[in-house]
Amino acid sequence: MSLLSVNGLSVKFKRRNGDLTALHEVSFSLDRGERLAIVGESGAGKSILGYALVNLLSKPGYIAAGSVQLAGQELTQLNAKQWQGVRGKRIAMIFQDPMITLNPVLSIGDQMVEAIRSHTRIAYKDARKLAIEKLAHVRIAAPVQRFDQYPHELSGGMRQRVIIAIALLLNPEIIIADEPTTALDVTIQAEILQLLKQICLDNGVALILITHDFGVVSRIAERTLVMYAGRIVEQGPTLEIINDPQHPYTQGLLNALPQMALPGQRLNQIQGSMPPLSEHPGGCAFHPRCPYAQDKCREKVPGFVYSGVSTVACYVVEDMLAEFAQYDEEDL
Ligand code: SF4
Ligand code: MG
Repeated sequence: MSLLSVNGLSVKFKRRNGDLTALHEVSFSLDRGERLAIVGESGAGKSILGYALVNLLSKPGYIAAGSVQLAGQELTQLNAKQWQGVRGKRIAMIFQDPMITLNPVLSIGDQMVEAIRSHTRIAYKDARKLAIEKLAHVRIAAPVQRFDQYPHELSGGMRQRVIIAIALLLNPEIIIADEPTTALDVTIQAEILQLLKQICLDNGVALILITHDFGVVSRIAERTLVMYAGRIVEQGPTLEIINDPQHPYTQGLLNALPQMALPGQRLNQIQGSMPPLSEHPGGCAFHPRCPYAQDKCREKVPGFVYSGVSTVACYVVEDMLAEFAQYDEEDL
């Protein structure tokens, strides 16, 4: 059984003149200890998916359909009290900006102790010991001294380490990290991502890494899921997707990466931009930006096919597979 199993998850936003769909029937699974990346430009619905998984959608967002199961337990039906046993404890979240997550008027240590004691009845002394252990675990030097410091006394990278330490406090099975390094310098970003990966490996924790940056995905995630306008458009093993992207949107994202371009070659940005939620086009939502768009792309959402590399929703791939199948038949 998968650790996390998401099926047909749809999220809508309430509006007086008709609700807007932000997530369309998203399905995927995550195994124990697996590292999965969710990639797409801003506005693709990645964060909404992350929030929906842990029931933190802010109003007027709501789960309109589908299921999220954690080791067989349905999460979409839990009440607030039951969520206390899951969020933070079994599924921890790390957000982009550590200053939002950390309380500026409490010391690092007090925040950690509070996080532990809100879930488990242990003595202050033991909670303190555990917190210091976790600070050392994320390779913070002089953890005993850091314990008494305030967030503003730490660098951005150090604060993000503290956030990771907090996420680890209750030994979660899954960490969901939403753009965890975007606010940091490039060199610190790489360090933090490597740390996150190592920590997941050491502790058998599964990771869902939400990012707009394909560059970080290859170093971290074994499997990748690409989102566009509230839908998954491609998912499969990371290396295979990077080496042979099937969906034109995935191809566009990869072509726009500086490290994928040959010296002297211009970067190929995808034309246009992600449409706002209220203007998602019908059919394949990528069609206004897609160099291969045909009439049927504008009319009907393509279904998923397995390309041999990944599972992908695109008519071009579907047509190509149909053509190959025909040749195979003629060969017989
Ligand atoms: Fe492009 Fe059509 Fe494929 Fe969408 S379905 S990505 S518009 S070719
Ligand atoms: Mg986001």
